[in-house]
Amino acid sequence: MSYLIQKALIPVGQGYDTVDVQIIGDRITAIAPQLEPIGTVIDGQNKLLLPGFINAHTHSSEMWQRGLIPPLPLELWLAELYDSAPLDPEQIYLSALGTAVETLLSGGTSVVDHIVLIPGKEADTIAAAVRAYREVGIRAFVAPLIQDEPFGSGLPSSGLPANGGTPDAESTALPSTAAVLDWVQDAIEQFHNPAAQINLLVAPTGIQLCSDALFEGCIGLSERYDLCRHAHLLETKAQQLLAQEKYGCSAVAHLQQLGYLDSRTSLAHCVWLSDADIQILADTHSTVVHNPLSNLRLGSGIAPLLKYRAAGVNVSFGCDGSASNDGQDLLEAIKIGSILHNITDFDYRQWISPRTAVEMAALGGATGLNLAEQLGSLTIGKKADLVLYDLTNLSLLPGTDPIGLLILGHPVQPVDSVWVNGRQIVSGGEVTTISVPQLRQAFLDRSQWQAAAHSPTRAVLEAQYRSIMALQPHL
Ligand SMILES: [Zn+2]
Repeated sequence: MSYLIQKALIPVGQGYDTVDVQIIGDRITAIAPQLEPIGTVIDGQNKLLLPGFINAHTHSSEMWQRGLIPPLPLELWLAELYDSAPLDPEQIYLSALGTAVETLLSGGTSVVDHIVLIPGKEADTIAAAVRAYREVGIRAFVAPLIQDEPFGSGLPSSGLPANGGTPDAESTALPSTAAVLDWVQDAIEQFHNPAAQINLLVAPTGIQLCSDALFEGCIGLSERYDLCRHAHLLETKAQQLLAQEKYGCSAVAHLQQLGYLDSRTSLAHCVWLSDADIQILADTHSTVVHNPLSNLRLGSGIAPLLKYRAAGVNVSFGCDGSASNDGQDLLEAIKIGSILHNITDFDYRQWISPRTAVEMAALGGATGLNLAEQLGSLTIGKKADLVLYDLTNLSLLPGTDPIGLLILGHPVQPVDSVWVNGRQIVSGGEVTTISVPQLRQAFLDRSQWQAAAHSPTRAVLEAQYRSIMALQPHL
């Protein structure tokens, strides 16, 4: 297919130009005023064209639990999450559709799904998500979330007598490191297909629940199949304490020693890093994925984003899963993730401008996936992953600086059109590849209007957590 987007506004330097943008096949082939019309002509007047953003960290199946879990820190929230996780691959399919739709309609053209696997149905889980992403046509990076250590080992010791923090059933059911790596390898061989916009990532959940052998196995798969690497990193204070206890050094230093950090490695959260850790990320060209809403929701802390930028560390944005956000609005994550840091540093010259935020969300996201030469900017020869925003939308009027208003304002359904790999999949604000009304009905049919039940695992962990964090004993 070919397209000509006519008279669209694009950012140039610190201003804007009105241009025509030509798409042939999967690429941007020309950007200039008044190009010869070819293919489908799109009216770009009063519209802003930007490169698609990357939703660089999420967990699609958490959509089933959004709004459900009460305000809790990560370690206790996780217990609630796992005790109420969806167990049917059809739910995985539907929530991947929902995640893709919400990402597209908030400016994203790619999604990194650190997908929570249903125990015993690991391959079916991945297949269901891949099916959804192929149907929608979003560019997907499916990162099977793996661990080989029991849930209770994710906390540092508390000084309390061992109280069986890990339910016995889970310990005995835990698969071996080799078995986990086998699932991942099978998934790579079956589903990794960049030509169809489906990419697999290796993605241990993080140092808190993974052995060195698992990280090393993932490095091996990454090298063998040329895959990017992903993980959570130092999201909470408790994880920082655990790393010292487990390794006698910081988690970042340990991952560097293992060889996990690389220009193909993106790391979600990175809240509790020292200045030395930050230098390691810069030296290894690793990417930080900032998930500000999740960090606020779970009380994890504020990632030192301005320090990352000053040190030359690449940073992108993610929504994180819908149970810690509790939505998938990428523009909201970018807004909060930009202005949050104005309170950490009085030197306003370091603050993140709306244009810088756009660059981080697009090119920063592409860089973290080793695709900066293919994606992330309006450049002739790059893939046509593009978003056209309607500047006549009431929430973007009266017209001022379009990017300033898009990022700092509260845009309500501002997306007019989206192209992924040169294919238009959103038109007139509607996703054209799947039926969103049918998706809404499928969610409605499976809805249960009820408050969360208390997780039994949380009850087991709570005393230990309070002791670790020096909180008043739990009564
Ligand atoms: Zn996460």
